[in-house]
Amino acid sequence: MQELAKANLPNERVYFPKAEGLKLFEQMGEFLKCELIQEKADAVFSAYRTGKFLDFCRGPHVPSMGRIKAFKLLSVAGAHWKGDERSHPMQRIYGTAFFSPKDLEAYLHQIEEAKKRDHRRLGKDLDLFSIQEDAGPGLVFWHPKGGVIRREIEDWLRAELTARGYDLVFTPHAMRLHLWETSGHTNFYRENMFGVMDVENDQYQLKPMNCPGHILIYRSRARSYRELPMRLAELGTVYRYERSGVTHGLLRVRGFTQDDAHIFCMPGQLEAEVQACVEFALLVLETFGFDSYQVELSARDPQHAEHYAGTVEEWNLAESALMNTLKRMNVPFKYMPGEAVFYGPKIDIKLVDAIGRPWQLTTVQFDFNLPRRFGLEYVGPDGQAHTPVMVHRALLGSIERFFGVLIEHYAGAFPVWLSPVQAVVLPISDKHLTYAQSVADELRRAKVRVQLDDRNEKLNARIRDAQLQKVPFMLVVGDREAENRSVAVRRRDTGDVGSRPLAEFIVWARQLIDTRATKW
Ligand SMILES: [Zn+2]
Repeated sequence: MQELAKANLPNERVYFPKAEGLKLFEQMGEFLKCELIQEKADAVFSAYRTGKFLDFCRGPHVPSMGRIKAFKLLSVAGAHWKGDERSHPMQRIYGTAFFSPKDLEAYLHQIEEAKKRDHRRLGKDLDLFSIQEDAGPGLVFWHPKGGVIRREIEDWLRAELTARGYDLVFTPHAMRLHLWETSGHTNFYRENMFGVMDVENDQYQLKPMNCPGHILIYRSRARSYRELPMRLAELGTVYRYERSGVTHGLLRVRGFTQDDAHIFCMPGQLEAEVQACVEFALLVLETFGFDSYQVELSARDPQHAEHYAGTVEEWNLAESALMNTLKRMNVPFKYMPGEAVFYGPKIDIKLVDAIGRPWQLTTVQFDFNLPRRFGLEYVGPDGQAHTPVMVHRALLGSIERFFGVLIEHYAGAFPVWLSPVQAVVLPISDKHLTYAQSVADELRRAKVRVQLDDRNEKLNARIRDAQLQKVPFMLVVGDREAENRSVAVRRRDTGDVGSRPLAEFIVWARQLIDTRATKW
């Protein structure tokens, strides 16, 4: 590669009529490339020639190899043709290139950091979750320690939802296929859905989304404008088909739980609802310790009004509700015309983690399609039937994915309130065991998650283990501590912080937990 870069060969774009190009690649013995050309190439397709090397590619490429000033091969991994486990095995070579050695250096540093934070490794080391061959790819088992974190996340979320006027609902995991035909999912979403189940000569579908369930609740009786806005929320588990070759830890899975909600309201209520969603989303970021984020507003392509469901007035109203809200709240955003899906504009919020990586999190999505397909109505102040406006919104997105991001952001060292074990009590020797036990009991009564490590191991070895498990506090107790009911406190980050009365430590720990402190 260095020789090629030095030779500064041009990357020449060449074109072939499909049949002629196919023959050429066949002669070169590139049978997989031929398959791609058959599938993807237009009547005339592009390829790139670099010296003797010819490749089928849409491009673009750098004009010549001399432009590449810094590059590195990153890894080699086994893969399968098109990510399908049953197809042709291949070797995939990963590399990267930059215009300056400094940029390459910064990138490699980020990769190194990311490796240390890999949630799949930490999930195993800290015993948080697993994905098991016996159950199948992309299906997540939350172990007791991961379960504690999930419960903390969900408890916080449920309390906030209730305080913000959401109603919590539950809907079935499998429903008649007919429902998904009405919603249109069997048309435009089929490839993401699990196969159909036959039950008593009827067909059922595992749910890929929660929306139709909430719609059925809305439609279960006549609605008056007085009931609006109606905010139906569910921690709803959905199943989506991903090829087994592309599932990835907690980030890309086949079953996951969304913190999903659907808001049904009148047009005049829209702006207030959108603002409440954005405020809620920003509170999520703050609560879980993320300082920076990016916001995108996806709008319609004004040249192609015919591509979209809903009327021009509806789109104008929805887009201005989104834009006005962001402007009023002084939230910087990127405006992306033409990026909206056919059924409505949306706001996406990405969090930026500790090492600068953006992660898609929150979506606030308008829908002009489903209320019509399901014939949703409310009786307005005028006594007439009207179609409500519907907004889909998820803040964390998927709880599994959010958990993966949390693990990587904190490199497994969670804030005290989220830590599965918040303190470990370490008696110096056996004769301090009774006191250690009473310390653990008292912490437990104060609802601090505590473990007593009375294993017959050297104190240093037990401290190291607690450190590796990223327990926030290690409480060492010996003669002196037993005498004056105190604990010698070690923090996992700064080490020894000295002795203090047990009662005082409990106040400190409770305060960190109750305020959900992320920095301490
Ligand atoms: Zn939805």
